[in-house]
Amino acid sequence: MFVHRKETIMPVNVGAPDARFGQYLLEQFGGATGELTAALQYWVQSFHVTDPALRDMLQDIAMEEFSHLEMVGKLIVQHTAKVDQTPVYDAPLFQMKGVGPHLVDSQGSAWTATYVQEGGNVIRDLRANISAEAGARQTYEALIKRCEDQGTKQVLTHLLTREVTHAQMFMKALDSMGKLDDPMFGTISPDDTVNVVFNLSHGDDHRGPWNEGKIYNGQSFDYIEDPQPRGQIPPSPINPDDEKISRKSK
Ligand code: MN
Ligand code: MN
Repeated sequence: MFVHRKETIMPVNVGAPDARFGQYLLEQFGGATGELTAALQYWVQSFHVTDPALRDMLQDIAMEEFSHLEMVGKLIVQHTAKVDQTPVYDAPLFQMKGVGPHLVDSQGSAWTATYVQEGGNVIRDLRANISAEAGARQTYEALIKRCEDQGTKQVLTHLLTREVTHAQMFMKALDSMGKLDDPMFGTISPDDTVNVVFNLSHGDDHRGPWNEGKIYNGQSFDYIEDPQPRGQIPPSPINPDDEKISRKSK
């Protein structure tokens, strides 16, 4: 069941409308790192997550993301409200589609479900969510740095803050399963290269905890300084319709 309250979760007050900034804000409405992506990702994940506690967490955060989508939408409405003030109204997307928001990103690309990462295993889902929160946080930082309106900045800072909180929640959830620093999950065992690190970019090589020392299964990283191919050169393809090339000899 859904019940909607018309009050926003936090106040949304734009001081000086700026349609160009409104176009930037579309990135967090219909963009890849936006609130629609986050809301639908966590909500759809919650359908197939079997653990009731994690399902509850995902649904709490999904609903908050819908509240964020609403706040970003209200920001865009206010930034595009004065469409007749030509100097302010310098945003091609709104000139074409009218007052926002719309389900496109800041470049006008339509929102797509391919932005959403979900399915198969709750560990995959929770890791994807840490990535989603990082993307959202980064976009809010970019927006805040370009924002000249104090009221808008206050809203965006709150939205950035909440993504930090959500990332922490997902990290704690993974940690509670011992999966925050254990890359292995699922039921298929990796092959014998699981501890092998290939040095495939030569020159100015560096060593660190990512290529030396113990890994999750108690083995140590095996750093291959100068990797050689284990396979052979594959045979040429057979294509009877291809051009028969005879080269002239000089
Ligand atoms: Mn959010
Ligand atoms: Mn979030």
